Amino acid sequence: MDFNNTEIAFSGKSNTDLKRSYWLFKIIGWNWLIKIGPLLLKIFMPLWIPIPIIKATVFKQFCGGESIDECENTIKELSSHNVKTILDYSVEGKEEETVFDSNVREAIAVIKKAKSNTNIPFSVFKPSGFGRFELLQKVNTKHLLTQNEEAEFERVKNRIDKMCAASFDASIPIFIDAEETWIQNPVDEIALEMMRKYNKEKTIVFNTAQMYRIDRITYLNELKTIAENEGFFIGMKLVRGAYIEQERDRAKKMSYDDPMHKTQEDTDKDFNLAVKFCIENIEKISLCCASHNEKSNLLLIDLMKKHSIDISDNRIYFAQLLGMSDHISNNMGKKGYNVAKYVPYGPVKDVTPYLIRRAEENTSMAGQTGRELSLILAEQQRRKSI
Ligand SMILES: Cc1cc2nc3c(=O)[nH]c(=O)nc-3n(C[C@H](O)[C@H](O)[C@H](O)COP(=O)(O)OP(=O)(O)OC[C@H]3O[C@@H](n4cnc5c(N)ncnc54)[C@H](O)[C@@H]3O)c2cc1C
Repeated sequence: MDFNNTEIAFSGKSNTDLKRSYWLFKIIGWNWLIKIGPLLLKIFMPLWIPIPIIKATVFKQFCGGESIDECENTIKELSSHNVKTILDYSVEGKEEETVFDSNVREAIAVIKKAKSNTNIPFSVFKPSGFGRFELLQKVNTKHLLTQNEEAEFERVKNRIDKMCAASFDASIPIFIDAEETWIQNPVDEIALEMMRKYNKEKTIVFNTAQMYRIDRITYLNELKTIAENEGFFIGMKLVRGAYIEQERDRAKKMSYDDPMHKTQEDTDKDFNLAVKFCIENIEKISLCCASHNEKSNLLLIDLMKKHSIDISDNRIYFAQLLGMSDHISNNMGKKGYNVAKYVPYGPVKDVTPYLIRRAEENTSMAGQTGRELSLILAEQQRRKSI
């Protein structure tokens, strides 16, 4: 597998696209701008001034469109590289019951779309899109809920059950994204319930394990024991984790032990151990390796070979985010591996908080933007030389 083949990586990109991507990644690398960006947007967003600028730049790079229909071109473009699409409705931070209910309708629309389009193998949701963050946080602490909160939490569980049931009926597996540790316990518990209910015959529901957490290998082992005892399949999306700064800040502020690994090496070690664990238990576990890390992707490729697993075995998927690491997605797609991109979508104004979060995450990802920049430069050089 040669991830350095920039001709394949950028084959769908015009010279103008490459220039735009270059400048975007350059700007994302400017920490000062990313730090003051949210404030600038807060000031100017009500005037709608930034919308056209965002739409033509970051939105174009990292999002598929404002609606499911608008993502059609992106789905086609990705499929021309044998890369599938995971439509990700990325509206964050709206905490109203009506919004939570309309998020369910949107998720079910995605499942329907996936049923009619073989280029969409999964659907996905972020639990905090279906219930108040503070409520999940309270459930996490195991504090007694009031009667109203009990009823509210029931509604959250019902919404999630409705989406998993729709996934089950459509036979389209669904990913449950992982979020901050201080809301993750109820999410893990709901995910377990959903696996018990819908993964009896095959894997429909996938939870996500953030391997920057020190306790996730134990979590995987415990889940495997439960699944073996009760007879259901496990779906697991493995990620390193996107909230490291918030996690460390909170642990420091509230004086509890940091639940994160101390170093990237430790996170890498556990991520790779988790990949091995899933492959060694592939009869029971379906795996999505959601990573831009070349070494982890190569490790999984090697393990598949070692265990004589066909490259198109649908228990194993690789996934990256739209607009990033095309050198991994496109080169793997070309070779015939199951590979997909998360394609965020939603109205520009509502998706902007997600885009800011991603940009902030990029600044903390050592080498990620640098890697993107050097690949774009290599491709520009290659095009000039022919
Ligand atoms: C398809 C897809 C789905 C995703 N879903 C989720 C999700 O549900 N929940 C979620 O949280 N994230 C999710 N992510 C985001 C993912 O967690 C980040 O993209 C990821 O952390 C970047 O890591 P990487 O594997 O691409 O590799 P790299 O870029 O090699 O790793 C960077 C990561 O390593 C970890 N790290 C860096 N420095 C340190 C340190 N000093 N100590 C400990 N650890 C460190 C951090 O997690 C950091 O983000 C998803 C990503 C993809 C591609």
